[in-house]
Amino acid sequence: MRLRKLGSSGLFVSELCFGAMTFGGSDGLWGQVGKLGQDDADTLIGAALDAGVNLFDTANIYAHGRSEEILGRSLKNLGVARDDVVVATKVASSMGDGPNRGGASRLHILSECRASLRRLGLDHIDLYQIHAFDPATPMEETLEALDTLVRAGDVRYIGLSNWAAWQIMKAIGITRARNLAPITSLQAYYTLVGRDVEREIVPLLASEQVGLMVWSPLAGGYLTGKYADGGHPEGARQTELDFPPIDRVRGEPLIRVLKDVACKHDRSSAQVAIAWLLKQPVVSTVIIGAKRVEQLRENVQATEVQLDPDDMARLDSASHLP
Ligand code: NDP
Repeated sequence: MRLRKLGSSGLFVSELCFGAMTFGGSDGLWGQVGKLGQDDADTLIGAALDAGVNLFDTANIYAHGRSEEILGRSLKNLGVARDDVVVATKVASSMGDGPNRGGASRLHILSECRASLRRLGLDHIDLYQIHAFDPATPMEETLEALDTLVRAGDVRYIGLSNWAAWQIMKAIGITRARNLAPITSLQAYYTLVGRDVEREIVPLLASEQVGLMVWSPLAGGYLTGKYADGGHPEGARQTELDFPPIDRVRGEPLIRVLKDVACKHDRSSAQVAIAWLLKQPVVSTVIIGAKRVEQLRENVQATEVQLDPDDMARLDSASHLP
């Protein structure tokens, strides 16, 4: 597994990050995303570490805090040295009833950071991300609260997630003008069936040297090809939950080309879809999700796939350009 710099920071992260969104769900939305318990999590985290992954992503909202608890417990169960891993989590989603239990206000960020540290069982978070833009809070308040956390030693780096280009650029301007902790990374959805970020976000991140952390790189499993020709594999996420949403009619030709390219390299469609993302210069890391260790082992081998210019051209012309 190769390492890349996260944006312009000095932080080295593995080119694949393990996403813990499948940990701890019981019912409802989080149950549909994944119901993995501690033993499964230990197995997956152990396999990710063995493959060279050093970056682990979760969020306070994933299974209402259970994902953070399970991830933190796994790192302890596996005896991982704290400085050998980079732990990323997020804040801003609503964690309960009441107007101040969500959002990106100073009050919520400072209290939820403490709660995340407690759930993770850590004394600092390496990358703390604002999960979504909060139109109700002045950006200055959010960025100053994050700066407070960095100066207090609770957080090492700050990142954003799912912000529009103008919001990111405004935030960068504020951190520079006020000498606040810089924005290191952005999490965004980016796949061969979802290339909207190429319009504004990718050029912005390249220009400002902010690292892109790609989420849902397989479009929730769709790019594995297992839903081709109207397939609905039982128990698989995209059968139950259309997330991220996919235009399946436009996706079918791409799925065929993915399969062709995969056959040429004696690889799987999932590996080619991830390898295509790894060829994009602005990408610092691709956050892979897996429910089973076999899926994880397959996905990490995407780092060995060498796509040539002909493969890239075929995938580009079959995919959904913005
Ligand atoms: P993917 O698009 O890679 O989907 C993962 C799912 O696809 C798995 O749970 C599994 O589901 C299926 N799958 C994975 N690998 C294979 C395989 N080799 N063969 C067959 N099926 C496979 O990623 P996620 O949507 O899970 O997102 C990854 C991470 O990104 C999350 O854990 C989270 O950390 C982050 N994220 C961040 C968001 C944000 O707003 N910032 C939003 C969403 C995710 P199944 O077996 O059910 O088919």
